[in-house]
Amino acid sequence: MQTISKASCAMASLPCSRVKAGLCVWPSMRHLCLRKGLPYGLVRFLSLPFRTLWCASRSLKVTQFCSITNMSSSLQIELVPCLKDNYAYLLYDMDTGTVGVVDPSESRPVIDALSRKNRNLTYILNTHHHHDHTGGNLELKARYGAKIIGSLNDKGRIPGIDITLKDGDKWMFAGHEVLVIDTPGHTQGHISFYFPGSGSIFTGDTLFSLSCGKLFEGTPHEMLSSLKKITSLPEDTNIYCGHEYTLSNSKFALSIEPNNEALQSYAAQVAHLCSKSLPTIPTTLKREKACNPFLRTSSPEIRQSLGIAAAAEEAEVLLAIRQAKDNF
Ligand SMILES: [Zn+2]
Repeated sequence: MQTISKASCAMASLPCSRVKAGLCVWPSMRHLCLRKGLPYGLVRFLSLPFRTLWCASRSLKVTQFCSITNMSSSLQIELVPCLKDNYAYLLYDMDTGTVGVVDPSESRPVIDALSRKNRNLTYILNTHHHHDHTGGNLELKARYGAKIIGSLNDKGRIPGIDITLKDGDKWMFAGHEVLVIDTPGHTQGHISFYFPGSGSIFTGDTLFSLSCGKLFEGTPHEMLSSLKKITSLPEDTNIYCGHEYTLSNSKFALSIEPNNEALQSYAAQVAHLCSKSLPTIPTTLKREKACNPFLRTSSPEIRQSLGIAAAAEEAEVLLAIRQAKDNF
């Protein structure tokens, strides 16, 4: 287990919400004052930069990004579009100035995001070894001296790895507790990083909004078990996944569960966000449980759509959904 100093500031979760039109919400001064006291809240509120970033993303076509701050902690999360449809995430501890990045598929967008705020980089967190999650590792490490963190199982596959973690480890990011959860299925060494204090989890290519990762190195049973670990977390957990696939995922999900009203509503919201070049991430566990077919293997409508017996095991259904999705 690896730790950094400073006590956790985890408190009750009060996730930042994105206005339905897609803009970020400024942190309320009330919450800041509750967390740090009135003088701190006033100073912090007045000094905060405008929180909507305008990024020149390419084929991703997402041009506006939010920094999302959970007012119960000092952790700020910033979406950084990379490659065609990847997200890297900058983690910023407002108290210490410590910065980390999750899954930098390439270095340039991360360097640009850091440079805009004149920030350094201390940690690189990788959910798994695939190049579109680790491609920026070595250049960022060389430029900033950042330490690279990943699964012990991927010790030989993650470029530049320094700190290896395993299932159940508690690592500390600038005072924020990070629980490491083994989530194999997409790859054998895949892990997810759960920040209980801010109610956030980085799921890489295990759980997407309205889908899950392809089974490159794992079995349906392994993926099902990994998804169940994630769905056991609080329902208001914010899910930060590795790709902006939600729009196409919504079309597949509707094709096998067209009468799911929660899904219909979310799909419309996703289409609206995408039409405005806004991200659909983060999603929430509550929403995914209601809409994501891979978390709904018990749904009679999904089973009927795929011609699967009502008594079939969940892993069998998950595999059938995966195969149908792969051919959609
Ligand atoms: Zn992957």
